[in-house]
Amino acid sequence: MIPAAFEYVRATSLDDAVAKLKAAGSGAKLIAGGHSLVPLMKLRLSEPGTLIDISRIPGLSGIRESGGKIEIGATTTHHDIAVSKLLRDKCPMVAEAAAEIGDPQVRNRGTIGGSIAHADPAADFPAVMLAVDADIIIKGKSGQRSVKASTFFRGFYDVDLTSGELITAVQFEPITSAAYVKLHQRASHYAIVGAAAALVVKGGVIESARVGVTGATTHAIRLPGVEKALAGKKADGVAAAVQNAAADVPDVNVDLHASEDYRKAMIPVFVRRAVERALGRS
Ligand SMILES: Cc1cc2nc3c(=O)[nH]c(=O)nc-3n(C[C@H](O)[C@H](O)[C@H](O)COP(=O)(O)OP(=O)(O)OC[C@H]3O[C@@H](n4cnc5c(N)ncnc54)[C@H](O)[C@@H]3O)c2cc1C
Repeated sequence: MIPAAFEYVRATSLDDAVAKLKAAGSGAKLIAGGHSLVPLMKLRLSEPGTLIDISRIPGLSGIRESGGKIEIGATTTHHDIAVSKLLRDKCPMVAEAAAEIGDPQVRNRGTIGGSIAHADPAADFPAVMLAVDADIIIKGKSGQRSVKASTFFRGFYDVDLTSGELITAVQFEPITSAAYVKLHQRASHYAIVGAAAALVVKGGVIESARVGVTGATTHAIRLPGVEKALAGKKADGVAAAVQNAAADVPDVNVDLHASEDYRKAMIPVFVRRAVERALGRS
């Protein structure tokens, strides 16, 4: 399949990317790894007039720690996240989720910024960003702003981002008592159901929990009922606390990979596995 004709320009800096977005108007799209956008263009589901390549902007990729937070630049590839020693030591869930994305080609080109901007309902990073309570850092012509992951993901391929803006980074506090597990679709590795849990644990008791799921509905969401039920529980109380996890999920997805009933059955199973793995790390 051949995409519709388009102009291609390469941004040399963040300011240049913002200026090029403004100049090209609503027909422009950013391209980072291209692993979600190019398939859509080939199917002519997306026909941008101009592609603005942000993949080589100096400083836009990389993983660093400062001021007690970990920051991952938007064009950091899934592979670089998967092998990051900083993440493996201080927030292993994020590295492990990256290592489970797609295949080596996808991990070598796909970026975290592209993944969360695209917000595929079955993508892994959105659930993980919800569980670490990430701040999404966004730049546009009116300056920089920061949005919590909990409000960034709004609906089916719908995020809090306007056409003149780009994601520059995600930031979150390190947490080791966290885990991501998924039931993956065998060919693509996208999540049929994926669950990310981040726990604050004292003396074997869960003080608080953040639980995100993906693949389950139109977009990644947190599970407030499960989070509430987990507070105050020890390991032997986890199964009961998560058994109604599917009740927190509206409009459960149905597709050729899984029926509504199957997903509803798998949601508590994978939430429980994520919580138990996170608890085991506390
Ligand atoms: C075969 C295959 C298997 C896959 N399996 C998985 C999987 O198991 N799990 C999973 O989570 N994903 C999977 N993916 C998706 C993959 O992770 C993509 O790389 C990712 O979703 C998009 O990142 P990208 O850098 O390629 O974005 P692109 O394709 O370049 O862009 C995607 C969208 O995001 C926008 N965008 C890109 N960067 C930014 C930015 N910094 N700011 C604002 N907007 C931006 C673009 O304009 C475009 O609309 C798979 C993809 C393929 C092709």
